[in-house]
Amino acid sequence: MKMLLAFLCAIPLLAGAQTTMVRDASLEQMVRAVSADSLESYVRAMVGFGTRNTMSVQDDPKRGIGAARNWVLSTFNRFARQSGGRLTAFIDTTTLQPDKRRIDTPTLLGNVVATLKGADPADKRIFIISGHLDNMPTSAMDRRTDAPGANDDASGVAALLECARIMSRQSFPATVMFVAFSGEEQGLLGAGFMAQKARSQQWQIEAVLNNDIMGSNNTSETGIIDNTRVRVFSEGLPAYETDKRAAQIRQLGLENDGKSRQLARYVKEIGERYVDNLEVVMIYRNDRFLRGGDHTRFVEQDYAAVRITEMHENYLHQHQNVRKENGVQYGDLPEFVDFEYLRKNTAVNLASLASLALAPSMPQEVRIEVRRLTNYSALTWKAPSSGKVKGYFVLVRETTSPVWQRKFFTTATEYQLPYSKDNYFFAVQSVGVDGHESLPVVPGVQGR
Ligand SMILES: [Zn+2]
Repeated sequence: MKMLLAFLCAIPLLAGAQTTMVRDASLEQMVRAVSADSLESYVRAMVGFGTRNTMSVQDDPKRGIGAARNWVLSTFNRFARQSGGRLTAFIDTTTLQPDKRRIDTPTLLGNVVATLKGADPADKRIFIISGHLDNMPTSAMDRRTDAPGANDDASGVAALLECARIMSRQSFPATVMFVAFSGEEQGLLGAGFMAQKARSQQWQIEAVLNNDIMGSNNTSETGIIDNTRVRVFSEGLPAYETDKRAAQIRQLGLENDGKSRQLARYVKEIGERYVDNLEVVMIYRNDRFLRGGDHTRFVEQDYAAVRITEMHENYLHQHQNVRKENGVQYGDLPEFVDFEYLRKNTAVNLASLASLALAPSMPQEVRIEVRRLTNYSALTWKAPSSGKVKGYFVLVRETTSPVWQRKFFTTATEYQLPYSKDNYFFAVQSVGVDGHESLPVVPGVQGR
């Protein structure tokens, strides 16, 4: 850590530049274990079930959503055997009733959920990586036609399986959940089922990384090819209690500092720190036009949740029956997935999840002093409720900067900076004994 501090002090303040930090060796080793070959084998196995439509056959051992979810469960169980009993998996089921939209017959829905229990009983935090197992051909109601769904969203489920494979060999103070949702294409139904349960049982979910369509490197129409950038979508104004929170957001200028946006910023910082040849691009909206994603059900329940998606999309290979028309191949086939790109995008998830789960929890009661007219800014906070803390980073950025620009380390629980609160945004994050950083907390105001 001495080296880390010396390194930090040497960083000049570059406007708009990302703070560069050294990599943690154990986390770097986990990131290196992410394998394009493993990811490809998972994707091909899922494609092998013919269709994974939520209303497809459930009792055929080789075809349909039932066989696919059993395969995901058995894959988790294979990883569980190397985890010393810490990883457990099950299929969380509910029965969907016809809804006059995209469910026309009573249907058993099953999310496949694996839980890597935290090693610290005092640590109640949960971090989730998710993707959706179900898929569709051209019509979401078509449960019989082949629908390979290699990219949408076998790529996302492959990412969470690979993270489970690697992380289940390690121990983390916080709990990590790996979830393959169903019912996404029928209206985010599996995610809604889980998010409601989480809210009613008061689960302390601090981040949801939802991966949906993350392995194709090129566009339809415009012909762009790019496997060096990945997008992270996050909401600006909160979907939860928007009106109630709007006054404070306006007063403090916090429209770019909601908790999902902070999570996106964290994914960008940690992802770029650990994954080479990849830029994490923050998109300042909850999702794309005409499309939805499972993270939305979590932000609606007041959880920090983001969508991680490839930089460019190819609509010839999404929600399309497999066919050839005028020499053009349609359909979501594995040959259109760039598994090296998928490896990097999976590594961003792994680095972010492991970093979060290894870090102490967030500092508590973070406040900024606003009673005095002064060009200094003074922050105070309290130690986190779990985890061993070496100190804290006080983060600073200009009001127009998308990313944190400086990190000041302190072992105290207060800090004064020669930067006016009028001109900068601040936050505080806990730093663990091994240097892992919690999510940042934006200060509330003190003294009004
Ligand atoms: Zn999808």
